[in-house]
Amino acid sequence: MNMKSERAKIALVRAGAYKCDELSIDIDEALDLIGGLSSFVPPQSKVFVKINHLPPPSVAEKCIVTNPVFVEAVVTLLKAITTDITVGDDIDSGPPDGFEVSGIRQACDRAGVKLINLREEGFIEKSDANNMALDKTYISKAVLESDVIINLPKMKTHSLAVFTGAVKNMYGVLPGGIRRRYHADYMARVDFNQMLVDVFSQVRPHLNIMDGIMAMEGEGPAGGSPRKVGVVLAGADAVALDAVATTIIGIDPMDVRTLKYAAQRGLGVADLGSIDVVGQAIDDVKVLGFKHPASSSGAAVEKAPRFLAGFVVKQLDVKPSVKKVKCTGCAECAKVCPVHAIKMSSKIAKINDSMCIKCLCCHEVCRYDAIVRRQSFGGRLLAFLGKTMQRAFNKS
Ligand code: SF4
Ligand code: SF4
Repeated sequence: MNMKSERAKIALVRAGAYKCDELSIDIDEALDLIGGLSSFVPPQSKVFVKINHLPPPSVAEKCIVTNPVFVEAVVTLLKAITTDITVGDDIDSGPPDGFEVSGIRQACDRAGVKLINLREEGFIEKSDANNMALDKTYISKAVLESDVIINLPKMKTHSLAVFTGAVKNMYGVLPGGIRRRYHADYMARVDFNQMLVDVFSQVRPHLNIMDGIMAMEGEGPAGGSPRKVGVVLAGADAVALDAVATTIIGIDPMDVRTLKYAAQRGLGVADLGSIDVVGQAIDDVKVLGFKHPASSSGAAVEKAPRFLAGFVVKQLDVKPSVKKVKCTGCAECAKVCPVHAIKMSSKIAKINDSMCIKCLCCHEVCRYDAIVRRQSFGGRLLAFLGKTMQRAFNKS
């Protein structure tokens, strides 16, 4: 489907707290603005609800996962239309049970709906001649066999991809081992982001509802800090929804490669001029001073002349570094490293810099903040200059 010439419609409403009754009303209000939930979900259809749940267990308050009360509120609305509802994501099998630590399991139990770990239900090989990076991949059977996919992304920054929202959340329908391998197979930023868009193009959600009440700023998707934004966004076009979300937190949608490439490939609308925002105006909910990841400076610098941009982007590369005092020796980072660059030595993680491909999977998985992102002095200086340039570009 080519959406380049179409306009997109995104609902934007304020929402104050994670209280199921209140949130159901807020989400319902957002959905009413785009035609109502029943316009997306036929009666008694088979619905899959894709949450954002990173593999290492974390409590909901850290804002790494879609809040369980948000999930419960959506599912409560869905139950008025269909009883065939499955909630899920692909996470490491416990113990501990990641779904229980975050509270998603309890939320699904309260709502009386099925919760699955995608890796326990199997994957189906998929290929598409229109792909830019992938020859073939494996996608969750449960997702592919559903009639309606409802995507519930969390509003978060991302150290590697700048922003993770509705488009990138669909990467989670691949098996965890393959997701890690792709970090090594698609090391160049262009290839990695085109690969993400390939996955998105094969599992386009029918409806996206973003948890933007408590977002994550800084070095997300796991190492950032919670930040209140107080909004819910909803719409059929995941690209447009992400474009509105990034604008709210001060990121130019065109600095997020997944959005840029998805729009170029006709998979959605990233141009704000072609998006009708209904409900609140973006300017009324904009958050000033939202911390962006260092990678957003790189995106801004890439707008500079080509010879300069290549040099600068290289300098901006960040490497992971282990903070020994915080390392508990849990070895989660060693398990996820796609090139086996991490070894455990005296119960402390050690990174072999010469093997590291800077995918930051270890940073993403460490729940003890023991893996920090290291940038050279020159890189930090350039990041500062990049942000200054970004402000200048935004004004012009
Ligand atoms: S760095 Fe983090 S993930 Fe790795 S062993 Fe230490 S605590 Fe665990
Ligand atoms: S050490 Fe960390 S950043 Fe480097 S390749 Fe392994 S997981 Fe990726």
